[in-house]
Amino acid sequence: MKLLLIILIIFGSTCFAQPTIKIDTLIDFSKEDSISLQKELKIVKTILDSEVFWSKIKAYDFSCTNQRTFHSGRKKKKTLYPKKRRDRHVYTNQEIHDLLWFGQDEIGEPKDGVIDLKLRSKKYSPNKNGTTTHGSTNKNTLIISSSPKTRINNSTKGVYACHLLHEYMHVLGFEHKSNDPKKNKKKCGGSDVALGIQLIAIETLKELR
Ligand SMILES: [Zn+2]
Repeated sequence: MKLLLIILIIFGSTCFAQPTIKIDTLIDFSKEDSISLQKELKIVKTILDSEVFWSKIKAYDFSCTNQRTFHSGRKKKKTLYPKKRRDRHVYTNQEIHDLLWFGQDEIGEPKDGVIDLKLRSKKYSPNKNGTTTHGSTNKNTLIISSSPKTRINNSTKGVYACHLLHEYMHVLGFEHKSNDPKKNKKKCGGSDVALGIQLIAIETLKELR
């Protein structure tokens, strides 16, 4: 009986609990950035702890779900993580849900139920085509860079939190068909996985308020 209880506790803590967040690396964060980060991480946790978020993922109509190809474009010399074959698998909602739920990034222990984040604060110059870059994820280092102005210290609560969940889907390997949002939407016919998760997070926050 005692053994069964221990097994249940171990099983429960690894399978039934929502993932936790761990900051693995922090680069170029000012004091202001760090204060915002602490607040926004609490919001990420609120989203992750909400059943609404997970049930929305299971029901969402994702487009371009076979885009977990981030790993295949890694540059041999620059990458800290193994290069993987181009992945043509079409991910189901349950599989997308599980990748996030189990924190299946390559940072830290595999399938550890921890969303490990390597974060950088990065000022972006305006793009030539007039668009603004808010952030990006490096597929070789898995560092998520974010604009301190438009993302980390955005005056609207939760903007950075939802952006982090978007970028984390890139850490997991999901890519956009195009970096141009308009072209991407046209190619995908709707929100792809990274964008979809961000939108679900925004909707979840609205419902929780
Ligand atoms: Zn993106």
